[in-house]
Amino acid sequence: MTRFLVVLDADSTLIRNEVIELIADEAGRGAEVAAATEAAMRGEVDFAASLRSRVAALRGVPVSAFARVLERIEPTPGVTDLIDAVHERGGTVGVVSGGFHEVLDVIAPRLGVDVWRANRLAVADEALSGEVEGDIVDAAAKASWLRTWAAERDASVTIAIGDGANDLQMMSAATLGLAFNAKPKVRADADLVVGPVDLSAVIPLLPRA
Ligand SMILES: [Mg+2]
Repeated sequence: MTRFLVVLDADSTLIRNEVIELIADEAGRGAEVAAATEAAMRGEVDFAASLRSRVAALRGVPVSAFARVLERIEPTPGVTDLIDAVHERGGTVGVVSGGFHEVLDVIAPRLGVDVWRANRLAVADEALSGEVEGDIVDAAAKASWLRTWAAERDASVTIAIGDGANDLQMMSAATLGLAFNAKPKVRADADLVVGPVDLSAVIPLLPRA
């Protein structure tokens, strides 16, 4: 059996949303943060610096607001079909996100994801402090987690799926880098562009059991 690993980006890949925009809505700053996120995903600005300034806009959002954010999350069509197919063929599913553990820790297990990594939002007095806790999961960190998970599982084939400029490093580190629902820069550099916004379109590309 071919040991393989499929790593997905979270925002606009695993799910239809950009979580940071949903949290920013709770601070009344959704439009401003959406524009900054769009620029970061197109690769026009440094990801880590952009993330820090967008997270600063979340300052004061109460932790209790995450319940509303979670209700608005919409999994991408075909996601459970893809994850089930990976598992049937003996593979592992990872998610690596420039978004946040606060949301991914709820969504990833529901969807059957095996391993995941994201950023953490600092909290003070039951509200977001506007800072990121610890190291930022940027493009280099995404590629590094793909390599780590592949090595841990002795996976000889890796598939990386993403939509944003911060996914390009992990896509080039993988055996196969797939642009999904992707920005022009990402489509141009991918091994293959998946057209439909339906993750089950990836199933024929998985190694056979
Ligand atoms: Mg994304």
